Amino acid sequence: MRGTILYGERDVRFEARDDPRIVQPTDAIIKISAACVCGSDLWPYRGIQEIAEPTPMGHEYCGIVEEVGGEVQSIKPGQFVIGSFFASDNTCPHCQAGYQSSCQHKEFVGDAQAEYLRVPLADGTLVATPEAPSEDLIPSLLTTSDVLGTGWFAAVAANVKPGKTAVVVGDGAVGLLGVLSAKQMGAERIVAMSRHASRQKLARDFGATDIVPERGDEGIARIKDMTDGIGADSVLECVGTQESMMQAIGCARPGGSVGYVGMPHGVEINGEELFFPHVRLHGGPAPVRDYLPNLIDLVLNGKINPGKVFDLTLPLDQVAEGYRAMDERRAIKALLRP
Ligand SMILES: [Zn+2]
Repeated sequence: MRGTILYGERDVRFEARDDPRIVQPTDAIIKISAACVCGSDLWPYRGIQEIAEPTPMGHEYCGIVEEVGGEVQSIKPGQFVIGSFFASDNTCPHCQAGYQSSCQHKEFVGDAQAEYLRVPLADGTLVATPEAPSEDLIPSLLTTSDVLGTGWFAAVAANVKPGKTAVVVGDGAVGLLGVLSAKQMGAERIVAMSRHASRQKLARDFGATDIVPERGDEGIARIKDMTDGIGADSVLECVGTQESMMQAIGCARPGGSVGYVGMPHGVEINGEELFFPHVRLHGGPAPVRDYLPNLIDLVLNGKINPGKVFDLTLPLDQVAEGYRAMDERRAIKALLRP
């Protein structure tokens, strides 16, 4: 098969690889229907996160099951399936508590920008659709694998509730789908913090009621102005930098919640800055597996159209252009089709 390898800074290649095969009897092999480039793929692509050796890339996937190991029971060849970037057994205490991305047997699935993929713990990790979906639903179904599930977790962790105010820091694909998630959860006022016209428009399409282009202290002041000096009930932090985290904490009201899902890079929080504002913080790698059945239903029933975050579609063999376009912010998110 052919797959994507990151060799070093801004050096992505699509090349011949060994076909994945069943290693454990709980594995499945899937033929990828669609994959994509994640904002988090840009950290190693830009050389900010070092890689020790040439590294296979991609952790968002959906496809058709080709083969399963001898102990796989619920997942069958021929099914269309979606899984998370962490394989999980979906039975251990952490999984049962809804934290499948902390599963006692978790394994990272990091080789999805390829023609075929091995998925460990197939019964726990994969969710099959009732029948093969129509082509037009595939982009939206693919988002449930990570980018939508992560935006959803940001909203859950930020304790978004009906009638409340949610602020979203970050206008990448996760932030935009955080807006969609907050809308689904009934937030009355949803403020997208964005300074890019195309992203502002998509945020409004997904349910944002207000746009704030200012950042940092100016952005915080705008949010305070808009909420009679109170601050937001919920803030979704979808970037992962020091500035975005402090902006998120600053926007929350006393007793408010910040859900943070941006992979932290150099974030350091001073104890007093956390102590005095009375802000709840919760975040981490999203337990996407917990949300998959519900999110897949919302897509199949036409309630949401998260696939609109893909503003670039490329054949999988042009994956390098997908990285370039996202790195240069020419594209919000690149969809890859084998
Ligand atoms: Zn588990």
